[in-house]
Amino acid sequence: MTTLFTSKTPLGKAISTTKAQLNRLETVGVKNVAEFLRYFPRTYTDSSNLIPILEIRTDQINTVKGTLSQLVEIRTKFGKKLIKAKLTDQSGSVDIIWFNQPFIKKLLHNGQQIILSGKAKFDLGKVTLLSPEYEAVGQKQLHTARLVPVYHETEGLTSKWIREKIHPLLKSAKQLFPEYLPSDIIEKYQLMPYANAIMETHFPATQNKLETAKSRLAFDELFLLQLKALQKKWQWQQTAEKNRKRLSIHDSLPEFQKILPFELTNAQTKSLTEILSDLNQDFPMSRLLQGDVGSGKTIVAGLAILNALLHGYQAALMAPTEILAEQHYKTISKLFQNPEVLKQTFNIRFLSGSTKATEKAEIYLGLATGTIDFVIGTHALIQESLQFKNLGLAVIDEQHRFGVHQRSILKSQGSPHLLSLSATPIPRTLAMTIYGDQDLSIIDEMPKGRLPIVTRIVPERKRKDAYLWIEDRIKTGRQAFIICPLIDESDTLELKSVLSEYENLKRDIFPLLNIGLLHGKLKPSEKEEVMTKFKANEFQILVSTSVVEVGIDVPNATIMMIEGAERFGLSQLHQFRGRVGRGEHQSYCFLFMQNDSQTAKQRLKAMVDHHSGFKLSEIDLELRGPGQIYGVRQSGIPDLKMASLTDSEMIVKAREAAQSIINIDPELDHYPILKNKISDFDNVYVKD
Ligand code: ADP
Ligand code: MG
Repeated sequence: MTTLFTSKTPLGKAISTTKAQLNRLETVGVKNVAEFLRYFPRTYTDSSNLIPILEIRTDQINTVKGTLSQLVEIRTKFGKKLIKAKLTDQSGSVDIIWFNQPFIKKLLHNGQQIILSGKAKFDLGKVTLLSPEYEAVGQKQLHTARLVPVYHETEGLTSKWIREKIHPLLKSAKQLFPEYLPSDIIEKYQLMPYANAIMETHFPATQNKLETAKSRLAFDELFLLQLKALQKKWQWQQTAEKNRKRLSIHDSLPEFQKILPFELTNAQTKSLTEILSDLNQDFPMSRLLQGDVGSGKTIVAGLAILNALLHGYQAALMAPTEILAEQHYKTISKLFQNPEVLKQTFNIRFLSGSTKATEKAEIYLGLATGTIDFVIGTHALIQESLQFKNLGLAVIDEQHRFGVHQRSILKSQGSPHLLSLSATPIPRTLAMTIYGDQDLSIIDEMPKGRLPIVTRIVPERKRKDAYLWIEDRIKTGRQAFIICPLIDESDTLELKSVLSEYENLKRDIFPLLNIGLLHGKLKPSEKEEVMTKFKANEFQILVSTSVVEVGIDVPNATIMMIEGAERFGLSQLHQFRGRVGRGEHQSYCFLFMQNDSQTAKQRLKAMVDHHSGFKLSEIDLELRGPGQIYGVRQSGIPDLKMASLTDSEMIVKAREAAQSIINIDPELDHYPILKNKISDFDNVYVKD
């Protein structure tokens, strides 16, 4: 039998219904047949277990089969219409009441064999089924006596209606959803065929089949995401001329490492080894180096840069803010001025939006002609007019602060090796999915001798004491951050409360101290000014909204006080905490709560117990889902319908499967449907 529609057939042509219903479906994103069949149930009620009427209980969904009798419509004294009836089987009989469904009188009739499924109440020794789902025996069972799909319902769009409309379409599933995964992958991971998975998801035969169906669909999502990412990675590797920038480990590099004031941690060494081995490949590196604030990413990136410079290539280091870029410029240019060991000096320059025009022109020329070896700067590095002579390695600090497009501009500079740094650690499997086109190195270990930041949840009654304590510390020369929650920087009401908190602190709490204020509404130049003053200890306290997150280094600041801490995700709190503990002094993090519910307190307790950003983001992932992890929201990951980004086992499997295909057929020439599916993947991740 053939059907007359394709997956793109407008729904109005495939089912008979009203314009109003079609509009309702459209508001939930369903316009055609395929979309309708991929409108998956939210959950299921299990009424598969038929019981004798005698065994009806009030604490369960009861599904019973019997003969209908005494069907009547009655009117209550308040004018409400009720349908009453009785159902009888061999074990006994039960009363039934349906509220507000007068049409039932016409749909059912006495003597009919039906199945009912619903809750029961006991009243004065009598059992009554309350507005049960009903269905005649004999026809295909959709609403009762099975695992019944429950959909997201909106006004006028009931699960019952959806079931009835979807069911007849499912016989076209095989035609609409042809299998697109290679059979060896299906076999290896024991996946249910695609069309079957769609059918079983709506009307599962058994709980087991439902699980298998859902896991097939979840696998698909993760698989396609990663296939796309791995293909992107492959394409990136193809863009480079073979062998051009193959950089072995230069002899001077180990020599230079010996004169560093410290030894690298094991995690740093491992990451550096991974990076150096990438640099020595035929194709350009695309690697993400993740590590907590203070874990020492800069020196690892610095050594990689040095290796490129030693080989005569240019390098670029881009940071999201002027202050951060300048910080890098100072430390790194000092570090690399070492003619004894390196036997040469490098021409290193700083470039930002505020670089004067004449100097800028000179830097542009130097980079184009190759007299400048290494440029450190801000977004100013990715102006289209800026040209490098032979850029060998580009490093992007705090990569999540840059868009994909911005990164691709740097890539277009003759396909340099690319290293991104991120201080917002996320679990490896999640990173694999989100940043799947990059390889991953992880620094999960702090340099020796780092004092863990003492973290406390402070009850409101201790607030005064905390202020006094902070003032004492400041008298000994330290500085403090006070973070106020302003989750949405455009929320003017909340901004007002931050401003008034700032006034309050200035006037009433710390009248003798200088206090700066930082929030998202300030102009970039104003922000820079506030930060510069804080850095110079002209402000002892910096009151700030969450804009302070990005890697600013004020080693003298040792106190991080956070208001309304329960409103932030753990990974974000961890980012705040990372602003302190950067110097030799013991640092502290105080968490205050606006709403100190028990669950919130418990969640915040993780901040006291854990100091690893990886651990905290894992907890975030468990508790609040991936969207809450700092740095993930910005990554533009699509909403997944079936897959869970916490299911690391499946992520790894899907990765493995995707890799196996890219290995043999990166352009997917032998997998036309697959190719088509991921080609326009950016907005919708699964196309049919
Ligand atoms: P981040 O990973 O946040 O960018 P940085 O690279 O700025 O961290 O390093 C933080 C501080 O730790 C710097 O002062 C750096 O010199 C120092 N550092 C880095 N690696 C080590 C190490 N292995 N031992 C001791 N100190 C180190
Ligand atoms: Mg850094």
